[in-house]
Amino acid sequence: MARARKKKEEIQYTINMALPHESNARLAAYKAKKPSSQKPMKMCIRCKQVLPLTAFYSNKGNREGKFTDIYCKECAQKMCKDKESVKKYIWDNNRLWKEVIWEKAQDKAEIALSANTGYLDKRITNEQRARKLEKETALKCLT
Ligand SMILES: [Zn+2]
Repeated sequence: MARARKKKEEIQYTINMALPHESNARLAAYKAKKPSSQKPMKMCIRCKQVLPLTAFYSNKGNREGKFTDIYCKECAQKMCKDKESVKKYIWDNNRLWKEVIWEKAQDKAEIALSANTGYLDKRITNEQRARKLEKETALKCLT
């Protein structure tokens, strides 16, 4: 009887020692084998490309936590050309439009363009300059 119990204890000891080690090794093997295709991916509803989440702007306005916009960054940049298209983009992404978004982006755009030779060129008209500023502001709304 005593020998049987001792044997049982030995087996239990072996299991206890082996299990955590084995599970760690298996976890490490799983992580090593995990292909990049298992990274969280998402399809852009405009270009239909399946892309990693980093290819999308994060939707900070979403109260439920970490979400990204429905269009990839490349599409977003193509779509947002002026104030109206930014408003539509924000609406499409279920975000709240606030005038302050545009105002803050315009400040950033002005700083970005302050050293832009194309923007500062005296040969371009004020209208052209205003269009460049609007386009740059639209892009700054996305960052
Ligand atoms: Zn896209």
